[in-house]
Amino acid sequence: MCNLEKQVSKKVKRVINGTGVIVHTNLGRAVLSEYVAQNVYDITTGYNNLEFNLETGKRGSRMDYLEKLLVDLTGCESALVVNNNASSVYLILNTLGYDKEIVVSRGEMVEIGGSFRVSEIVEKSGGYVKEVGTTNKTKLKDYEKGTNEETGIYLKVHRSNFKIIGFTEEVESKQLVELAKETDVVVVEDMGSGVLVDMEKYGLQKERTVQEAIKENVDIVCFSGDKLLGGGQAGIILGKKKYIDKMKENQMLRCLRVDKMSLIALEGTLKQYFSDDKIKKLPIFESALKTIDELKALGNNIKEEINNNDIMIEIKEHLAMFGGGSLPEESIKSIGLYITSKTKTANDIEKKLRNGEVPIISVIKNNEVIINLSTIFKKDKQCIIKSINNI
Ligand SMILES: *Cc1c(COP(=O)(O)O)cnc(C)c1O
Repeated sequence: MCNLEKQVSKKVKRVINGTGVIVHTNLGRAVLSEYVAQNVYDITTGYNNLEFNLETGKRGSRMDYLEKLLVDLTGCESALVVNNNASSVYLILNTLGYDKEIVVSRGEMVEIGGSFRVSEIVEKSGGYVKEVGTTNKTKLKDYEKGTNEETGIYLKVHRSNFKIIGFTEEVESKQLVELAKETDVVVVEDMGSGVLVDMEKYGLQKERTVQEAIKENVDIVCFSGDKLLGGGQAGIILGKKKYIDKMKENQMLRCLRVDKMSLIALEGTLKQYFSDDKIKKLPIFESALKTIDELKALGNNIKEEINNNDIMIEIKEHLAMFGGGSLPEESIKSIGLYITSKTKTANDIEKKLRNGEVPIISVIKNNEVIINLSTIFKKDKQCIIKSINNI
């Protein structure tokens, strides 16, 4: 391979996610639906009315329509969208907790994705961390004891990528709402993933929804646009109008501004949430809701077309999961292609698949290479067949 070719092969390109991790942080997080991607394409290959009001013919706000969608979907008073959820947390704390104490449970002092730490973002935003409780147990009286005239915010943080089990106790947001009553303390919940639908309705494990938090009167909630919501990169902030209005006036908002492509993707994704059928068509839910029979049929389909005599394929159970710092304990029953070879090691096979024309990211377990089928799309099938035949 010449140098130029090597450079070209390093560019960002489509890969096939055979890991079964639906929201894969290293593989671009949520997959956009074709409808949404088409919308982004249509709008961005020409001019648009992002900041132009078609009724008045004057300057408009890029946020107005999006805010209305979010208000309609969640029942919040007001909404704001920024670059990503780390930006949301920063803007919230910088606006409402500057030079004040931010009370956080020791069990929620989390690190997300290697570079986002609650303790550090609080400091950078100009607030002071006030840790309360212990790693495994935090009680309401810990928050009470941690409250004084310097307190600005009670911050709840979704643990996202780990779970504490055993001898544990935590305080729910609604208890903090009660505690903050008649005081100036603002209750903020960083929900991480931001689930907008009742997961149980689809046979998935229950997860607290954004609507529940709003109903419980949490002052401000925030979450990512590209985790379980299924949109593009964005940070979504919802809650009481008086607080959101202050954030809208914060100069930092401009630095954390969301790009037009993300906004269009988010708008398109949110619109899908108004219909049950369309929710199921969001790629995230499509992956999570595939039946075992469908997955087995896909596996058999692929297997039938393999003519590589060195390769053996078995179709067996393999768990998929939401991933991406969301629902850490949620596993979804799924099916994998288990690939072995008469002459090659699992590492050889994995590398071959990864270096194919459309790279396939697989999993190695007990010397078998696994391609989980939950995260495989229709257009991936022929590529997988070709890649396996080329091993
Ligand atoms: C993922 C996550 C973040 C960071 O969100 P980004 O959109 O990646 O910036 C912050 N807080 C929690 C709890 C998360 O799960």
